[in-house]
Amino acid sequence: MSEFDLLKFEEEAHERWLHAFESNPGNLEKFYLNVAYPYPSGAMHVGHGRTYIVPDVIARFWRMRGRQVLYPMAFHVTGAPVIGISKRIARRDEKTIRLYRDLYKVPQDVLDGFVEPLTIVRHFASEYQRVMTACGLSIDWRRRFTTVDPTYSKFIEWQWKHLYEAGHVIKGVHPVRYCTVDDNPVGDHDLLEGDKAEVIRFTLVMFRFGDCFIPTATLRPETIHGVTNLWANPEVTYVKALVDGKPWIVSKEAAEKLALQDHTVEVQEEVPGKELVDKKVSHPLCGEISILPADFVDPDMASGLVMSVPAHAPFDYIALRDLQEAGRYTEIRPISLIKVEGYGEVPAQSAVEKAGIKNQMDSRMDALTQEIYSAEFSKGRLFDKYGGKPVRVARDEVADLMTAKYDSEVMYEFDVRPVVCRCGNRVRVKILHDQWFLKYSDPAWKQQVSDHLKDMTLVPPEVRLEFDRTVDWLKDWACTRRVGLGTRFPWDPAQLIEPLSDSTIYMAYYTIAHRIREIDSKLLTPEVFEYIFLGKDSKELPERKKLEAMRKEFLYWYPYDFRFSAKDLISNHLTFQLFHHVTIFPKDKLPKGMVVFGMGLLNGAKMSSSKGNVFLLEDAVKEFGADTVRMFLMGSAEPWQDFDWRNELVLSTKKQIERFYNTVMDVKDAGGEPHDIDRWLISRLQSHVAKTTAALMNFQTRQALQEAYFGIETDLKWYRRRLPEGNDGSRELHTLCSDWVRLLAPFIPFTGEHLWKELAGEGLVSFAAWPVADEKLVNGKIELAEELLSRTVEDIESIKKLIQITPKSITIALAPEWKHEIFRTIARASDRNTVIKEIMKDDAMRRRGKDATDAARQCTTLIHRLPPQVVEPLVREPISEQAVFESARAFLEQEFGVPVHVTEAETSGHVKALTALPFKPAIIIE
Ligand SMILES: [Zn+2]
Repeated sequence: MSEFDLLKFEEEAHERWLHAFESNPGNLEKFYLNVAYPYPSGAMHVGHGRTYIVPDVIARFWRMRGRQVLYPMAFHVTGAPVIGISKRIARRDEKTIRLYRDLYKVPQDVLDGFVEPLTIVRHFASEYQRVMTACGLSIDWRRRFTTVDPTYSKFIEWQWKHLYEAGHVIKGVHPVRYCTVDDNPVGDHDLLEGDKAEVIRFTLVMFRFGDCFIPTATLRPETIHGVTNLWANPEVTYVKALVDGKPWIVSKEAAEKLALQDHTVEVQEEVPGKELVDKKVSHPLCGEISILPADFVDPDMASGLVMSVPAHAPFDYIALRDLQEAGRYTEIRPISLIKVEGYGEVPAQSAVEKAGIKNQMDSRMDALTQEIYSAEFSKGRLFDKYGGKPVRVARDEVADLMTAKYDSEVMYEFDVRPVVCRCGNRVRVKILHDQWFLKYSDPAWKQQVSDHLKDMTLVPPEVRLEFDRTVDWLKDWACTRRVGLGTRFPWDPAQLIEPLSDSTIYMAYYTIAHRIREIDSKLLTPEVFEYIFLGKDSKELPERKKLEAMRKEFLYWYPYDFRFSAKDLISNHLTFQLFHHVTIFPKDKLPKGMVVFGMGLLNGAKMSSSKGNVFLLEDAVKEFGADTVRMFLMGSAEPWQDFDWRNELVLSTKKQIERFYNTVMDVKDAGGEPHDIDRWLISRLQSHVAKTTAALMNFQTRQALQEAYFGIETDLKWYRRRLPEGNDGSRELHTLCSDWVRLLAPFIPFTGEHLWKELAGEGLVSFAAWPVADEKLVNGKIELAEELLSRTVEDIESIKKLIQITPKSITIALAPEWKHEIFRTIARASDRNTVIKEIMKDDAMRRRGKDATDAARQCTTLIHRLPPQVVEPLVREPISEQAVFESARAFLEQEFGVPVHVTEAETSGHVKALTALPFKPAIIIE
């Protein structure tokens, strides 16, 4: 008998799978699924593993269900990250080299070549393919491409021609996230930190300070009337700079930022913060005030100086209170200017005191600030002496007035900090003038996407809300970059199309990727793609035969059935691809469904390559075997739930596969005659087949494994226990093994192929027919009988444990018929509360008195405890308990090693016997 040896199974299968999953249009119905292609700049970890293994399990399932399945893969190498990496490697940055040499285990000679960005992505693309293959992914590798292939660029140019002609590509002035080291706008994927940060528009209030201005940024210009002081950080060195020719005092960081926001900035001299403290400034709307010291002022926030409105801002209120408690600046009083219902004369004071906040470090401060801000904005009104208008009106009016008369300017800043680029540099807000945008803000375009979303299958259904919200909130998207790899922007070849904008309809490109590379990319005019994807013929098409074949591929495979991706891509990629699809393709070629994944944890913490908290997929496959990795990732959580990788749990998964293997090898050749218990086993099998199938149709990999692995394993254990002594089982076991191996093949395909051969199955298990549940083999009576028996055995075991005597005999006392009647009446009743009254209307029952009401109550409890799939057939088609136990007596006596008596409860003479209920006989151990 061959030993359990995953490594050997893997070698065998790889040899047999070579080219097996290359998929062409055919007569079968198709199933096309795809995953967001990876950016290959580092090694894959087990989190990536799940992203590609879930679709593989689904692909394998549908292939066995007789579909023509396409599962392709490509590599996204567009963008700047890899350029930053190569620069850092070139300048021998220790942290980067450690990551690549020690964590990703790149050999030194290969690492030396990483000074060339394309070498990095080429290296990791082939690494990805190698590791994906090692994991058993059934990918059609002929279709592999990268996004810098010349043919792909031609395809992108064609795509963008459509976007442009539809009016979705515009040029404009926009504040964007920007990295000054990369000299490039920064997308979510380029960030180490701060990916949730939004760009906020602040008004700079310009305070006079001698011949200079001191600007402070605010979202609430109307509160100028309540300013009591400015805050400056005495530890910070500020600068005096000529901004558009006028002298301003700001932090060094602010001077840098202003230069990125349409200002000319010329720094003249340094101004120590402590020299500003206690000096006077003035503004026409609040008069003369002092600058107070405050170490909480962050030079990296806006201008680096802050105006203080203690009556309406909790932070300011507490900062002032702290100083005054130390006996300083006691003459300053908060100046109220807004009346708002529910708050006292000084809203910040009443809110802080009500919440019992002691100092600025209190974690509730941000929430409290937000609460007052919202309350004042929605229902606050300025005092009459400040104009008496609602805050929402006064805010814009004051801002306009300040801009027109009092030198105010706009400054953009992030709402959260820090925002850090992958290169390590702080990201700034920059105003771009010649920036190209995709106009996702266009309501008509949004509407098209919303309309199509309604027709899509989204898994899990809860993500629909997030998609709707994203479509709603999406703003114009900066779609070009100056630095990086990718396709040149057709209307401004100095720029490149950025990564989230050249990865939106490539699922259509997969259908032709292996054929189009046979054509010289110079011949790939837009007309070529018009023909392939939209069927628009034109006279001068080159290589017509090849184009026809591609058209056929596209028509066969498209639209795709399901796209798989992690949930953090809902807010960008997954929604962007819908915008692009609705612009280019006709209705019947629009995406049909999406499956959204949860995140991966490693020992309870979020996996992150940059923080080193990852377990490499290849190491996992080497250590535990590919099937183990697959089964663990599929079984520990449903795809949309977060999963947690823990080595000790992975190890126990390996033991489960070994147990499965050994069981199949043990029983597959049994040749005995079938008994009743075989009919039970085969009957149960039908329900496992049906439930596994239903679960996989819904992408519930965990649920499917529960049925296909644990469900069948538990049945087999019972089956083997029930076999008469000396009997190894019947030839039905071969049928069971055949079904079992096929049900688990999508999860553990390597072990599956090996066992399939052992079972003398035809061809590859990867293409074997998926088992189908056969109604005719389902035998409800036998299943009920075994259920009754196994429950009774459990009861006997627990009673034995409880009474702690060596039993001499066991008596099973069966409930009388009248209790069965009560049981059935209650189970059938629509109203369980009144049913006891109904029962007691019957003369015979009434004569039983308390016995009948007690039995009714106990039956109600029992019915609640039994699973519905037991109660329902029990009522429909009762079984003879007497017959069940009589025929199982030999088994019971063998199990417990003492004589077993089966008797009617009411004639047995035992007091205990009177507790017998239907499906729950009384057990008397003596
Ligand atoms: Zn950068």
